Order: sequence, then structure tokens, then C-alpha cells
Amino acid sequence: MEFGLVGKVALVAAASKGLGYATALGLAREGARVAISARTEADVQKAAAAITAETGAETLPIAADITKPEDIRRMVAETVAEFGGLHIIVPNSGGPPPGTFETLDEEKWRSALDSTLFGTTRLIQEALPHLKAAGWGRIVVITSTSAKQPIPNLLLSNTLRAGIVGLCKTLSQEFAAYGITVNNVAPGSYDTDRLKHLYERNAQQAGITIEAAKKLMEQKIPLGRLGRPEELANMVVFLASEAASFITGQTILVDGGQTLGL
Ligand code: NAP
Repeated sequence: MEFGLVGKVALVAAASKGLGYATALGLAREGARVAISARTEADVQKAAAAITAETGAETLPIAADITKPEDIRRMVAETVAEFGGLHIIVPNSGGPPPGTFETLDEEKWRSALDSTLFGTTRLIQEALPHLKAAGWGRIVVITSTSAKQPIPNLLLSNTLRAGIVGLCKTLSQEFAAYGITVNNVAPGSYDTDRLKHLYERNAQQAGITIEAAKKLMEQKIPLGRLGRPEELANMVVFLASEAASFITGQTILVDGGQTLGL
């Protein structure tokens, strides 16, 4: 399959680790030039250097917080200044904190909005003129299966990710004439730092070993294991490519069969 990604410019947010990092690496492997961002400067520089060392691709590390509008403006401006344009954006962020309606205060709602919803809309807003100028664009948002099936104790994620599905479908209609596709990928459970913290906490609460807590999580997944970050990245790379030219407005679950529902 011809992906047509050689020389394309991609910006992957929240990408010093985990799913964002795997996505940036996947795009770089296909010949894209890749800017990556995260808050911790040393980590984002290390990640960019590792991607270049492994793939030979040009990379640009940017220390930036996706919750801050001025950082998002700078991320896009630096990427365009370095690479001369922009074709692909992957909005991503740290996930919103857990909690139920009665445990989440106004402050947590506001910070989740800034990170999960406005982090996405603001990045799209800044990038749009550049994608339009290229006459070809790909927007692939990393969301969660909570967008399709609410997860207990994750009220903020359940609410805001469902909003991202509506956003994606609407923008797919509004941007189609510009040659820009808009899709979401919805990861199930992946073995990243974020999930490690979760099963370590589960182990502590249940008084079991970390391995046992991880196994309990894996038993809920029909394919019998957690996902590897590159398995999510493969879908992002495909949707970002020329090969996915007739796919837009979709939210694609990559979850080992975990989500029931048709
Ligand atoms: P991760 O391994 O913890 O990595 C998070 C990355 O995001 C790091 O590079 C981190 O670097 C960066 N980051 C966090 N907050 C940021 C901010 N405000 N601005 C910029 N960068 C930020 O997380 P992950 O597992 O890859 O998860 C990525 C996204 O996928 C999250 O929204 C998560 O909820 C969602 N998701 C993950 C899973 C899963 O199983 N892993 C499942 C469903 C959904 P800094 O801390 O240095 O900024």
C-alpha cells in the first residue's frame, strides 16, 4: 500500500511518551517530517532525538502545554517556520482526571475542557489555514472508547470525548471541500505510563500484586492483552495517509474487541 507520506509535515501533540510518541514514530517511519510537543522540555527533546535516530526523519521538539492557547499558536508557528508548511495534525493530550459527578468540582471541569476539548479545537483552528493552503490535510484526533461507550468513574472523559465525536463529524463536512479529512481514533486499553499508574493503583486498593491487577485488566479484553502503542499508531498513520483518502468523519475503535455495541 502506498501511504504517500514522504515529505509531508506532521504535528503530533502530547507526544514525548505513550500513544502520541508511537504515532510520531509511525509517521516518521513512513517518511514524514514530524514536530512533537509535550510540557517537559527534556523529555520532548529526548523523544525527538530517538525518533530521528531510529528513522532518519527530520524532527522538531517543542516544549508546549496543550491547555494554553499561546503555546498552541507557537507550536504551529514553529512547525511551519521549520518545515515550510503543515499537512497533518494529531490533537492529543493527557487524559482528564477520573471522578463521578458528585466528586468533580468546577476547576476539574474547566481544566478538562481546556485539555481535551479546547486543546483539540484550538489546535485545529491554528493549523487550518496551513492545511487549506496545502490543499490537502489530515486531522486525526486521539480520543478514547469512552466516546462510544461510557466508562464508569470517567465522567469528564465520557462527556468531552463524545463532544469530540460530534466535532469530528461536523468538521468532516465543513472541511471536505478543502481536501481535508477529519477522523478520530479511539484507543481501548494500552500499556502506556497512564495505564500503568491505573493498574498500580488498582493493585494497591485491592491488596494484590501489580501483575495480578494487570491480568484482571487484560481479562476484560477479548484479544486477551493490553494494546501495544504502535497498534494504535498504525491506525493513525493509515488515516493520515493518502491511502485513507475516502475516509472522513469516522471514529475508529482500536481496542482488541473490548467495546460492545454495533
Ligand atoms: P501517557 O503515556 O501518560 O503520555 C502522555 C503524553 O502527553 C506525555 O508525552 C505527556 O508529556 C503529554 N502531556 C500530558 N499533558 C500534556 C499537556 N497539558 N500538554 C502537552 N502535553 C501533555 O498517556 P497515553 O496513554 O499515551 O494517553 C494519551 C491520550 O490517550 C490521553 O488523553 C488518554 O486519556 C488517551 N487514552 C489512553 C488510553 C490508554 O490505554 N493508554 C486509553 C484511552 C484513551 P508531559 O507530561 O511532559 O507534558
